[in-house]
Amino acid sequence: MQDIKELSLKALEDKLLSWGSPKYHARGIFNWIYQKGVNEFSRMSNLPVALRETLAGEFKVTSLHPADTQKSSDGTTKFLFELADKNLVEAVNIPMAKRLPAGKTPARASTITGCISSQVGCKFACSFCASGLKGFKRNLSVGEILDEVLYLKNNVSSGQFTHLVFMGTGEPLDNYDNVLKAIRIINSPDAFNIGARRITISTCGVIPGIKKLAQEDLQVELSISLHAAGDKLRSQLMPVNKKYPLAALIKCCQEYIARTNRQITFEYILIKGVNAEAAAAQDLARLLKDLRLAKVNLIPANSVAESKIFPPDSAQIDFFKRYLLKAGLNVTLRRERGQDINAACGQLRLKYEKSQN
Ligand code: SF4
Repeated sequence: MQDIKELSLKALEDKLLSWGSPKYHARGIFNWIYQKGVNEFSRMSNLPVALRETLAGEFKVTSLHPADTQKSSDGTTKFLFELADKNLVEAVNIPMAKRLPAGKTPARASTITGCISSQVGCKFACSFCASGLKGFKRNLSVGEILDEVLYLKNNVSSGQFTHLVFMGTGEPLDNYDNVLKAIRIINSPDAFNIGARRITISTCGVIPGIKKLAQEDLQVELSISLHAAGDKLRSQLMPVNKKYPLAALIKCCQEYIARTNRQITFEYILIKGVNAEAAAAQDLARLLKDLRLAKVNLIPANSVAESKIFPPDSAQIDFFKRYLLKAGLNVTLRRERGQDINAACGQLRLKYEKSQN
């Protein structure tokens, strides 16, 4: 039986029309599922009883439940979900400390950013990422992606869940169709009603996906994991660079910005002894200098025991940031959240699987 969340609003309207029901009930069904969190057709009380029975005979409404949950002292909450086929994916609710009055802790922040996975495992094998360690298993379906969002949203107070990032396990542009279909539902006023500008797709630099995204009529944010400004080092850290090297990636970014007039954020994890030296800052400034609307987000590395990765000291981080600012780049510095709960992507899944063996 198909999960009804696989259907766009238009597809559901068409289905209702094919049954002889008015298509406006599709908006009602979206409202029950995505806004009220109801997953039994029998409880959708404003639908005709006959329609509820027909829906129940043709569709199911799935939902996710965490196999494990961890809450950080900074308010970050990470969930490990077991899917119907027993595969595991992670999603995180991150309290936003931004714009909080002095003295307020992130745990009391007014908004939450959800971070979700798009695949089970990942084929891109970035050296700093726990998700790549066990390889790729499969894409998440549209319904599974939406189930993550539903769970995260329903786990916080009403109205708190305002932003969403595809930064969990997997490469979203490698599951392009399902991710885009899910985003259109997340964006829909009849479903989650999260503005496109509050949804971020984070990619390791899959050029064909970036080109496709530039053609969409969606104003989502694009973030690219860069982490090195030279091909040799980037290929070591991120094997995807062998297929899509920096010159081609930057050219693609230029075209994306020209077409969309939207900013691209370049994520740069600062790793001690690897990419945090003064020369690396110079290379990065040079690489991005001609990119209009580029922002660099510096992230001191979160230690991954399996990969022997450590953050640089604060003086080095400070130098790196100041160098880029002086070079005229737009720079932010983000601390990894939930360091006490294995919040870097893939870490909770690895730990859970080890505990089950
Ligand atoms: S960082 Fe992203 S693209 Fe790289 S291995 Fe991890 S999940 Fe895959």
